[in-house]
Parts: sequence; C-alpha cells; structure tokens
Amino acid sequence: MSKTLFQRIADKEIPADFLHEDEHCVAFRDIDPQAPVHFLVVPRKPIPSLDDLMESEKELMGHLFIIAKQVAASQGLTNGYRAVFNCGKDAFQTVPHLHLHVFGGRKMGWPPG
Ligand code: AMP
Repeated sequence: MSKTLFQRIADKEIPADFLHEDEHCVAFRDIDPQAPVHFLVVPRKPIPSLDDLMESEKELMGHLFIIAKQVAASQGLTNGYRAVFNCGKDAFQTVPHLHLHVFGGRKMGWPPG
C-alpha cells in the first residue's frame, strides 16, 4: 500500500516545519494556517480517521493529547487553544490519515462553522 501524505512527511520525504518527533507521533506546522499558531499532531501509524480507531489504540490517542498540550505550551499558548479532529466528508477531512489540529494565538469562534 502506498504511503499517506503524512507518512511521507513523518519519514522526511516531504519537508515540514516539525515541532515534535518521537517514535509514535510527529507534530508539524500546518501548511495553510488558520490561526497564528496552527499545528498538526499525527501518529506515525496511518489510521485513516477517528472512525477507524481501535480499542488497542487508546494509549496512542492519549499520547497524541499529551504531545498536543506540550507543543501548545512550547508555542506560548498560555491563553488557551482549540484541538480538533475532522472526521469524514461532512467535517471536510481532506487527508485520510488521523491528525489532531491545534489552533491558538487568537480568540476562536463558537459554534464552529
Ligand atoms: P483536514 O482537512 O482535517 O484533513 O486537514 C488536513 C490539513 O493538512 C489541512 O489543514 C492542510 O492545510 C494540511 N496540510 C496539507 N498538506 C500539508 C503539508 N504538506 N504540510 C503541512 N500541512 C499540510
């Protein structure tokens, strides 16, 4: 099976602005930022979407959230931030490799569009 876009980024085949790397996940800045700080936390494992998540991936998901808060702190997001998984067509998921968006550095709107 061919690699996903985010596997190719994690494997350094495509450049990205990395904020974190470990054996389970990477975090890098979004190429089309929607806030002053916008990064993605991506498991190395190519889980297609939140809908495909398995019980056995619970620990990995916890790890993604811990890394999200650590990178948010390292980016100075002391006033809060938003963390979002887009899942499927209605949520406009465009890359079929699970990723957690983290947005910060401005006030967020609610409800989301
Ligand atoms: P989603 O629409 O939730 O699937 O989000 C995919 C995100 O990946 C979008 O915010 C894109 O801007 C971002 N993206 C696509 N290609 C790249 C890339 N080469 N480097 C960094 N971010 C990317």
